[in-house]
Parts: sequence; structure tokens; C-alpha cells
Amino acid sequence: MNTENEKVKVLIIGSGPAGYTAAIYLSRANLTPVLYEGLQPGGQLTITTDIENFPGYPQGVSGFEMMTHLKTQAERFGTVIRAGIATKTDLSTYPFKITIDNNKIIETEALIIATGATAKYLGLPDETKYMGSGVSACATCDGFFYRGKDVAVVGGGDTACEEAIYLAGLCNKVYMIVRRDQLRASKVMQNRVQKTNNIEILWEHQVKGLFGDGGVEGAILWKKKDTPQQEEVNIKIDGFFLAIGHQPNSAIFAEYIETDPIGYIKTIPGSSKTNIEGVFACGDVQDPTYRQAVTAAGSGCMAAIDTERWLNEK
Ligand code: NDP
Repeated sequence: MNTENEKVKVLIIGSGPAGYTAAIYLSRANLTPVLYEGLQPGGQLTITTDIENFPGYPQGVSGFEMMTHLKTQAERFGTVIRAGIATKTDLSTYPFKITIDNNKIIETEALIIATGATAKYLGLPDETKYMGSGVSACATCDGFFYRGKDVAVVGGGDTACEEAIYLAGLCNKVYMIVRRDQLRASKVMQNRVQKTNNIEILWEHQVKGLFGDGGVEGAILWKKKDTPQQEEVNIKIDGFFLAIGHQPNSAIFAEYIETDPIGYIKTIPGSSKTNIEGVFACGDVQDPTYRQAVTAAGSGCMAAIDTERWLNEK
């Protein structure tokens, strides 16, 4: 155990668009933030295909390339970027104490939480196998690549309905794979799905696996799994979208920071301020609604400005 604590002015946890944008603003304000990249350096965008909806890239850009640009830009102005995961926090004392990799303790005057959210997956080996070549957890990001094709959305909540409706506007046919005989989604979303001609709901279906040569060409499903009527069904699809929920990465702050029942950090509306003064949140960890790269970047800018003002006032 390294007993020597390091003292910093601003610590940013997370390296998606929110964390890096906060870092760019703070380093340009000469606050020299220290940023820890976390479990998935570059965040969720590094596992999508091309990004075509981030303003400023008329030809699109790969998620990996965009995150490399953001990192380089933050470094250019003096952000100290380090590999490492925040494993423990103590926000009951000031300066706040954050443990990195169960080892080093950072004492910080201000903290920006930009730890993102993680899309839930079913846990099938085929999801990993076809990641980025037919498997996606974001219809808004990747739907465009499946124009005119057949796709499937797994899930029966509001997100699944929203994604299915969005995809129905682009694709030839959208299957919704729903494990029960009813949707969890709100009535209004259910009605919209039912009114959309090219969405077919596969009730009481679960996913066994995916198949395809080099990319997804179909899914193998169980109908009425674990009942006497169980049967195996194949559907031909080019895209397989997960919409079974997201988990905001807020667990290590839960003791101190207010969240909604799912775990999204609550911020004071119109700001990035949390219930603890000096602790700010931005990006998907506090956004159950939009969850886009550009909104995450925008909220990272807000967190940087809120932090700078708070430090100045203090
Ligand atoms: P939800 O938790 O509401 O729904 C998840 C869905 O995925 C459920 O249908 C669930 O099935 C299904 N599911 C979960 N795990 C599995 C699994 N292992 N296999 C198969 N199916 C599975 O998540 P959402 O992301 O849809 O929504 C989260 C919150 O955000 C909700 O409060 C929602 O209302 C809100 N939201 C609101 C929107 C809006 O108002 N426009 C848009 C998007 C989200 P089951 O029902 O059987 O549990």
C-alpha cells in the first residue's frame, strides 16, 4: 500500500467525451486537471463503429479515432492523463479522497465524475464475437449502417421501443425479441410500436446465439423456453441491437452522492452540481435521457465551468 497521498486541485474520473471535454476546458483555464481513464479508456464510443452524428466530422470518424483526438487535445493543454481505475471514494472529508487501483490515494479539491454508463448485454459469447460487426447497443449510433436491412432489438422497455421505432424508419424490418408475453414499456410507447407496420414482436422469445460469416447474418432464438412448447426459431438479420437497459457507473459514489433508483447521479437541473459541494457529474452517469456523445461533451463543458467557478468562489 502506497501511504503517500498525492494532492491535486481537480480530479476527473472517466475518459469518454464528458471527461475529456471537462479536461480540455480546465486545462485551458490553467487548472491542470488529473484524469484517470477508468476501466474502458475512451469510453463506450471505442466499441461502436463509425460516428456520423458528432458535429464537425462530415465524413464520419471511428469512435477510437475521435477519442484519440479528444485525448490529444486534452494533453496539449496540460491535462495529466493516467491509466487507472477509481476503486474507492471518501467524500465525507475535505479534500475528497479517491483511491486509485486499491493503492494510491488522491486528495482533490474538486471532483468531476464522468464514469459513464455501461449497456447491459445478455452475456452470450456471440455478442463479443460480433461486437462492431452486427452487434450494437445503440440504435442512434449504428442504425444508419442497416438501412434497408432486417434487424432485431432485444428488450421490451421504453428504450427497446424507442430504438425499434427509430430503426423502423431506416430498416426494412425490425423484430423485437421480448422474453415475456407483454412489454414493460409505457402505454404510449407500446401504442407507437403497434402502429408501426414493419415492427414484428416475437413474444416469449429469448436469444440462444447468433450466426454469420464475418458478421451477423441471423439469430437463433428459443420460443417459450423451458416449457413443454419450447422450440428453436431462426431469424435472418444483419443487425442485432441490445436494449435491455444501461447501468450507470456510480456504485463507488453511492454512499455519498444522490442517485435515482437506477443509479443515475442526480444533478441540480441546469448544472453539473451534485448534492455535495465541489463534486460535479457529467456525461452518461447522470443522463438517463439523451446518452449521446455530443450531449456528454456538452455536459463535460458545464462541469468544467461549474468547477472553475466553484474553486474561484472558494
Ligand atoms: P427497462 O429496465 O425499463 O427495460 C428493460 C427491458 O429489457 C425489459 O423489457 C426487460 O424484460 C428486458 N430485459 C432485461 N434483461 C433481459 C434479458 N436478460 N433478456 C431479455 N430481456 C431482458 O430499461 P430501459 O432501458 O428500457 O428503460 C430504463 C428507464 O428509462 C425506464 O424507467 C424507462 O421508462 C426510461 N426511459 C424512458 C424513455 C422515454 O420516456 N422516452 C426512453 C427510454 C427509457 P422484462 O420486462 O421481462 O423484465
